[in-house]
Amino acid sequence: MEPLLKINQETCIACYACVRACPVKAIRVQSECVKPEIIPERCIGCGSCLAVCGPGAIEVRNARNDLKKILTENKNVAALVDPSIAGEFPDITDYRKFVQMLRTLGFRHIHEVAFGVDLVALAYSELFKMSRGKYYIMSNDPVTVSFVEKYKPGLVPNLAPIVPPVAATAKVVRRIAGEDVILVHISPLIASKNEILRFEGESRIDLAITFVELRELFKESNIHETDLEYSDFDAPLGYKGNFFPVANGIIQAAGIEEELHLSPVITVEGNGIIDAIKEFEENIGTIKSHFNLFYKEFLMGRGTSLGGKRILRRSQLTSYVKKRLKILDIKAWSDSIAEFASLDLRRTLKADDQSLPVPSDSKLNKILKDLDQLESPEVGCGGCGYASCTDFAIAIAQGLAIPEMCNTYASRNRQDHIQSLKISNEKLAQAQDDLKKSERLAQKESEAAGEATEILRRMLHKLPSMVVICDTNLKIIQTNDSFIDMLGEDAMEINEVVPGLAGADLKTLLPYNFYNLFTYVLSHNESITNRDIQHEGKMLNVSVFVIEKEKIVGAVIRDMSAPEVQKEEVLKRLSEVIDKNLSLAQQIGFIMGEGASETERMLNSIIESYNLKQDLKDR
Ligand code: SF4
Ligand code: SF4
Repeated sequence: MEPLLKINQETCIACYACVRACPVKAIRVQSECVKPEIIPERCIGCGSCLAVCGPGAIEVRNARNDLKKILTENKNVAALVDPSIAGEFPDITDYRKFVQMLRTLGFRHIHEVAFGVDLVALAYSELFKMSRGKYYIMSNDPVTVSFVEKYKPGLVPNLAPIVPPVAATAKVVRRIAGEDVILVHISPLIASKNEILRFEGESRIDLAITFVELRELFKESNIHETDLEYSDFDAPLGYKGNFFPVANGIIQAAGIEEELHLSPVITVEGNGIIDAIKEFEENIGTIKSHFNLFYKEFLMGRGTSLGGKRILRRSQLTSYVKKRLKILDIKAWSDSIAEFASLDLRRTLKADDQSLPVPSDSKLNKILKDLDQLESPEVGCGGCGYASCTDFAIAIAQGLAIPEMCNTYASRNRQDHIQSLKISNEKLAQAQDDLKKSERLAQKESEAAGEATEILRRMLHKLPSMVVICDTNLKIIQTNDSFIDMLGEDAMEINEVVPGLAGADLKTLLPYNFYNLFTYVLSHNESITNRDIQHEGKMLNVSVFVIEKEKIVGAVIRDMSAPEVQKEEVLKRLSEVIDKNLSLAQQIGFIMGEGASETERMLNSIIESYNLKQDLKDR
């Protein structure tokens, strides 16, 4: 089930008026967003927060839809109407029209809670007579009962163990209308919505709806008194129980002495009940009186329309009761009282301790120091919703509040924040300068690199050896003119459209035995040097080497038939033969004497004669 009250986080403006108004600190602020929330276990349903919330951000669990469902699905439904209707519905000219409006809405039985008040009043009269030095707090007001159970659990044994009037009325109606009757309490209090959940068995009540919600339903269903006949409440009717909506109405209904020096009961109404309960706790031995307490007179309950005038409502109630009493059949009332006198009106009450641990002085001082409120913590601006800085610090320690709720703290934090933002901005500006310098440097380096690349590219093109560089897919990255010349006319034509054959597939330009050398180097990361291969009638000397592992390879290819390569290569290879033979000859020399030096001489003479022939040819 939804909680009785909740705060709409969208419409709440975090003004903390509700925190200030809540008598039991059932509203906490925990999150960074500083919007409050109601703690259902701590809430006593007094509705004070509701009354002070300007934007109307506090929502009450709505019962309208539940009632519509009940009335649609059931035939045997009874309304238990609180006598406060006289103050709430002065616009309805006669209470009998009001009763008919309820019947039109779909209720089969319409009963007055006033009769239940009469029964309960008698029970109190008996209890007080038999109290023998024990003093009671009367338990007719659900807010008072809830307060004692949650915040003065030690006084639970002093709560009068008598059901409230609506529960007594439920027992009566169930006997009249049958066990299966669905009971709906029409109440001036939002607290009734939770109170009815406590009653079981014969006193079970299925739903509580406020006067305000009832008004809305009349409007929604287009029910107006002008179109309707008169109809009266179902018997049994109430007598002085009709005075119940004013604080001492129950005392009058019970016929208890009200003269100050003779009355065994003290009546207190309003916020003062909290101090009254404290006094009961501390001084009942001296006070020696029962307490009749109402956090709010029912006439002005939080389930009635806002803005009602108390004295006006009182006078409307008085006129209503006078009218009722004039026509009341006292004999019939007395018979009904006698008929239901044997009903069991006892109830059990139980402690539901919600007190929070009191923080140590050192913890409190630390919080006050953080708030910068160590100087005069007993006063406060009230902006946070707490009466003093000390109360606020206690609430922080108990997890009900956060320091950001304090305007001074928040403003100081804002200043700190602004200062740190300034510093960050300065650092940011410095970083931007450095970045610009780096950018300029990088630009220069990039230009220099570009120039160097261009020089290299030109050099590459002028090289007599063929050069090709390709990627892992054997796509050409760079070549030179010699390589393109070697590939033939088709390649030269492509070169005119795509300079350097960039992107061309080496596999389509070279035979398998040739491009496979590139594939090998790419996959093994191992260079191949001086591999001779035949290509289109030419002997080519190929060296393929790794430029970037598994990604880029390059090759230098020399045409062995080119004269300058031929000479150089013959000399190089003859030198290799001589080196190899010398090594061998040295080993054999040990055995055969001068044979090796003769071989050397012979070979050297071949080289010299070749050099001489070539020089002549070149000239
Ligand atoms: S009274 Fe409470 S719920 Fe209403 S706007 Fe202010 S902080 Fe929000
Ligand atoms: S209903 Fe009363 S107890 Fe509950 S949160 Fe509002 S002010 Fe506090």
